[in-house]
Amino acid sequence: RKGTAIITGASSGLGLATAKALAETGKWHVIMACRDFLKASRAAKAAGMDKDSFTIMHLDLASLDSVRQFVKNVRQLDMPIDVVVCNAAVYQPTAKEPSHTADGFEMSVGVNHLGHFLLARELLSDLQSSDYPSKRLIIVGSITGNTNTLAGNVPPKANLGDLRGLAGGLNGIGSSVMIDGGEFDGAKAYKDSKVCNMLTMQEFHRRYHEETGVTFASLYPGCIATTGLFREHIPLFRLLFPPFQKYITKGYVSEEEAGKRLAQVVSDPSLTKSGVYWSWNKNSASFENQLSEEASDADKAKKLWEISEKLVGLA
Ligand code: NDP
Repeated sequence: RKGTAIITGASSGLGLATAKALAETGKWHVIMACRDFLKASRAAKAAGMDKDSFTIMHLDLASLDSVRQFVKNVRQLDMPIDVVVCNAAVYQPTAKEPSHTADGFEMSVGVNHLGHFLLARELLSDLQSSDYPSKRLIIVGSITGNTNTLAGNVPPKANLGDLRGLAGGLNGIGSSVMIDGGEFDGAKAYKDSKVCNMLTMQEFHRRYHEETGVTFASLYPGCIATTGLFREHIPLFRLLFPPFQKYITKGYVSEEEAGKRLAQVVSDPSLTKSGVYWSWNKNSASFENQLSEEASDADKAKKLWEISEKLVGLA
């Protein structure tokens, strides 16, 4: 039978390119979990995806109710769930003021981490009950949250501190909107959320890999300088960033190539190892990359897990 993969944020960029790459193999049915149904359906059509190769379902990660509703809806499809890809993200580098999810959390961490945390926790039992040969939960990471790299050292650097802001609810009412308790900074909030993504993947691996047989993985797909992720950046940045990445840092990767990389993490029989953060070298060969000290701190991962459980109502 075909595998079924859920991809969040499949209406553009990496998520769409991955959905297309998987659909084209003829071996996958993709559930595109998107906040904007019409945009997703237009994007799938424009990408030339066969209409039988995907199903679009509504998911707004900025609302925990929407996440719970999505889980109910996806179960009603009566399809096995073989792979879940947590890909959607918001990046607000120029925001002067924080914005908030329906549950009051600062938006970047609320969507990128907490919404996905609840989704992944809820769908773990579905993955476990699938009979697919290799079941996977993939959480897209980034180099920018990884302070052992050049890109990860561009200020403001990711830093979760002692997680006091998160423990306080991350809502700006009685607690900071930043995980470390500091002043709002949209670029840092995004990087912090990516550290959370990478810590969460490893904590899932430690807690559930043996018990469930699910492969947990994260990845840095390369710098996809053309995606919508940079839509909120100043125009000059948007103009110069792609050529800068192409010719100076040489970290540039096209959406199509990045989609193929993520599709590999979804389906390649050689990438079944769990607890890995995948990266690709210049020849586009995958390798197991090292994470920064903070992004591989097991105590922090445990603490993050426990606080996140409370915030999303699982504990
Ligand atoms: P895009 O902005 O193109 O895609 C982000 C997707 O997330 C969109 O489909 C967007 O939906 C969706 N999304 C945003 N908010 C929500 C929400 N509340 N609920 C549901 N979906 C939502 O960016 P990319 O493709 O670049 O980013 C994809 C992933 O890749 C992210 O995890 C990012 O951190 C990661 N990444 C990107 C890099 C890059 O260089 N671009 C580098 C490293 C990692 P909509 O279409 O409705 O806006």
